Amino acid sequence: MEKTATHLEYTKETALRFLTMGKSGVEGLYGQADTTRREHMGDDVYIRGIIEFSNVCANNCLYCGIRAGNRKVRRYTLSADEIIETASAMATRHQMTVVLQAGESPAFGDDLLGGIIRRIKKETPLSVTVSVGNRSRETYRYWKECGMDRYFLRFETSDPGLFLRLHPGSTLEERLRCLGDLQDLGIQTGSGFMIGLPGETLNILAQNILLCRELDLDMIGIGPFIPHPDTPLGEKRNVYNDNPEMFFKALAVLRIFNPDAHIPATTAYDALFPEKGRDLALQRGANIFMPNNTPACHRKDYLLYPDKPGVDDPVDQYLESAVSRIRALGRKVGEGPGHSIKKRKALTLQR
Ligand code: SAM
Repeated sequence: MEKTATHLEYTKETALRFLTMGKSGVEGLYGQADTTRREHMGDDVYIRGIIEFSNVCANNCLYCGIRAGNRKVRRYTLSADEIIETASAMATRHQMTVVLQAGESPAFGDDLLGGIIRRIKKETPLSVTVSVGNRSRETYRYWKECGMDRYFLRFETSDPGLFLRLHPGSTLEERLRCLGDLQDLGIQTGSGFMIGLPGETLNILAQNILLCRELDLDMIGIGPFIPHPDTPLGEKRNVYNDNPEMFFKALAVLRIFNPDAHIPATTAYDALFPEKGRDLALQRGANIFMPNNTPACHRKDYLLYPDKPGVDDPVDQYLESAVSRIRALGRKVGEGPGHSIKKRKALTLQR
């Protein structure tokens, strides 16, 4: 393992060498990722509760189960009161951040969401992360004024041609413009990608990891692509279908290249490796757990991919299991907002 190089000196060749490491080297890679996580982020695992508040979407991303063209989806949108009620219940359950996620629905106006952010900030102690896709700089600025702390928007793939094929009518350039706007506005910014999209090469995977480092992200969420039968990619396989170790190698390399970022153990890991995927992710670089707080009656309607875990579990049970999983790994549940440590470091430098 390269002990002497700093994470900024690692090259794409280093990433490729890590990613193609055989069985004999892989435990060392995971060990290095875990040590990096511990040294930079500590043993706290922050629990951020997601509310998937609407599955209405105007986009037609080729991989996504809630794409506009999927007529089988029963569409729903929670009311402002339902969202605030759900968020209010979170603070008593170890969750100090609410992640408001939805499809890209222009009908869900800026003012409506702005008002919801304001009320959550006024009525609860929660930090607010929003994840509703590409929006204008003005909208991001307005939501920041309303109290939004963070924004999460994956770039999905760093390859412009592949991005265009997967997202009709949208470009990687535009997505990166959004991320740039968010960062300029001083909003804690998260992004990431899917692993194993049809058409992805190992070179693109390495490039995805490098782009995360280049963007200097506060949070990075990655997860395996899982084909959804009611999408144009339904018949395709994940590129690493026969080599699932790659999902964890990618996570470990991501941590080594991005030591100061918050990295969630995403739900897709549990979908592919039931009941242990997220535990393994937490041991191989991740430090965030994101339980689903969407009201049970709607969870089955937010199926980005099939076999999404936890859609039937009551929130309390789901949360209890998250806490015991974290503790069983010898880790602690993080207290407080768990803001970006990059901001903290920058503030310390300013003093
Ligand atoms: N509309 C917002 C956006 O695009 O950022 C938030 C919702 S979007 C459905 C959330 C994420 O789900 C996407 O960024 C994508 O990476 C992931 N996703 C969608 N379909 C998936 C699939 N079939 N397999 C794995 N992840 C998927």
